[in-house]
Amino acid sequence: GRCPPPLAALSQVLRLERNRRIGVVFPLQKLARYLAPGVDTERFRLFQPGLAALQRAEALFRSGRDHAIDYVSSAVRMDHAPPPALPEVCFIGRSNVGKSSLIRALFSLSPEVEVRVSKTPGHTKKMNFFKVGKYFTLVDMPGYGYRAPQDFVEMVEAYLQERHNLKRTFLLVDGVVGLQKTDHIAVEMLEEFGIPYVMVLTKIDRASRGLLLKNVLEIQEFVKEKTQGCFPQLFPVSSLEFSGVHLLRCFVAHVTGNLRTVEAR
Ligand code: GDP
Repeated sequence: GRCPPPLAALSQVLRLERNRRIGVVFPLQKLARYLAPGVDTERFRLFQPGLAALQRAEALFRSGRDHAIDYVSSAVRMDHAPPPALPEVCFIGRSNVGKSSLIRALFSLSPEVEVRVSKTPGHTKKMNFFKVGKYFTLVDMPGYGYRAPQDFVEMVEAYLQERHNLKRTFLLVDGVVGLQKTDHIAVEMLEEFGIPYVMVLTKIDRASRGLLLKNVLEIQEFVKEKTQGCFPQLFPVSSLEFSGVHLLRCFVAHVTGNLRTVEAR
């Protein structure tokens, strides 16, 4: 089979020297070191699991003989979605935000999992369902843009409103450009539906530290002041360098009820 990329596995990350290791596993914490003294960093470390929890989460994302991870199906309508048998998480975001790259990074220890992309203009955008053993399902929602057609909006809205096994929605925001108008529309929709969600900041390897800090602080402030349903801690990630990917795997395992305990680091 194909070989997983460097740093896709915790065992590889653990070989890095301490500073780099923290940057890869806890990118938000690494950033927090550059804040002015006195800034409250509580929201930077609400979810801060220890190594044991990170390892148990990684095991869920690694397929094996008794643990199949598969693309299940695609759906354009709710009645085509697989039965809601397992706890579920979904990933949404603007087209080009880095959603398929992130899902590929999450599943990189199971190279047989094929993360399909349908970007050809005019092609029907679909919800793609992935089944992670008997533990949870992960849904790749179609990317939204400034010209999202009505049927697409209806599909996403119907899914978010009707899917009873949906445990958490991951809203991806571009780390270089920060929150955009269409992201605000997504936030308004999630707030209106009253479902729990969390923001993921993508492509952090492409932003300078200063820009990243600015975007992180702005978004965390926005979340604190303007939202009800959003988890106050932001999850910065780089699918290229694997920063934040291990922590995100652990958070997915946690919100789907697959980590009995998350002992703090
Ligand atoms: P999607 O439309 O949301 O599925 O976005 P893609 O995953 O296809 O990513 C869009 C573009 O951003 C592609 O050119 C990716 O190579 C690039 N990209 C995605 N994630 C990252 C990342 O973490 N770092 C960098 N440098 N580029 C990324």
